Amino acid sequence: MAARGECSNLISIKQFKKEFMEFLEPAQYERKKFELDLTQMAKEMNVPMDVATDLSEVCSSSNLKCPAETEGLESIDIFGNSIPDGVELESLKLVKERRGRLTVHRKVVNYLIKEIQPSKEPQTFQEIKTNEVVLSVAICHPRKQNKVQEFHVLGSQCLTELRDKIFCTADEMILGDHSNNPDQLSQKRAKDMFKSGFFFIEGVFYNDKRDPLSKDYSKVIMEWAKDPQRRKCPGLGLFTSKRMEDVIFEDLKVKLGYPYFYCHQGNCEHIIMFTDLRLMNVDDNPNLNEYPLQVFKHRGKRIRCRVCDVYTAKWVTVNDVLACEEPCFFCDTCFKGLHYSQSGEKICDFQAYPVLGDFDW
Ligand SMILES: [Zn+2]
Ligand SMILES: [Zn+2]
Repeated sequence: MAARGECSNLISIKQFKKEFMEFLEPAQYERKKFELDLTQMAKEMNVPMDVATDLSEVCSSSNLKCPAETEGLESIDIFGNSIPDGVELESLKLVKERRGRLTVHRKVVNYLIKEIQPSKEPQTFQEIKTNEVVLSVAICHPRKQNKVQEFHVLGSQCLTELRDKIFCTADEMILGDHSNNPDQLSQKRAKDMFKSGFFFIEGVFYNDKRDPLSKDYSKVIMEWAKDPQRRKCPGLGLFTSKRMEDVIFEDLKVKLGYPYFYCHQGNCEHIIMFTDLRLMNVDDNPNLNEYPLQVFKHRGKRIRCRVCDVYTAKWVTVNDVLACEEPCFFCDTCFKGLHYSQSGEKICDFQAYPVLGDFDW
């Protein structure tokens, strides 16, 4: 793991995996659940066998289960009706008792549902059979430079698989002025129309060329950097390019903790950083279909309507005489109430763009 502000030497991911597999005994990297050997534990703790047995019973994680779980339920839905009889947890007893009288603010419920339930569809299970390396990759905000997402990717995965999981509001925007037809939003998002993008890692541009119409953003930069005067500058020189879809992470050589680069939507630029490299272990998610696995996502900040200051902004306007600032954000109700007559006609000149996704990181 790279320490803050430092970076490692250049590491070949393939070589790292090979050397570790040679260095370790198969038992050390095979992802088998470790069976607790009580005799061994008693010996290590220097306690008699009966004390070790007592401890293992008292500390067993099965003590945390409630009766419902032994019936095969994986979780308890506290908002539904499935709190079973015989639950021993005090908190759940209270919820059960107060059901009916318990009023929870709708916003709190929505928040909890969003937080507790995974937002994505559960993936079908496909076990990772081979020994894999796991790379941690942090993605930063294009302007604020703070970490907004972090993934675990497998060495055998393609660079495009990571790219497809990176979330950026620039990809989600609905393009074009919608002020004349605010009720007919185009379904096309920026990412469906402009698919070009690249990673820049150790002097190589990895261009996403899956779509034949994608542009090679790297060409102009490579030409620019070729200039003999510029080549002398540190960090510039002869760069090369590859197709992102042809390269897997094991093909890379990276420095942990070093800032690399991801660019998309023309000029939306993110620092990306490899923060850890290790062999996969028994605690990692064994489902191949879950990778690249998002292990961190910034909570983000909601943009509120500038009129009511309550609801989340759904519209942003420019060249708008009715607005207090430029650009100005509005919720749907305030936007339509302020800018359109009762019959739905625009009452002044402005351009309006839908704001998608509740959050601007
Ligand atoms: Zn972006
Ligand atoms: Zn409003």
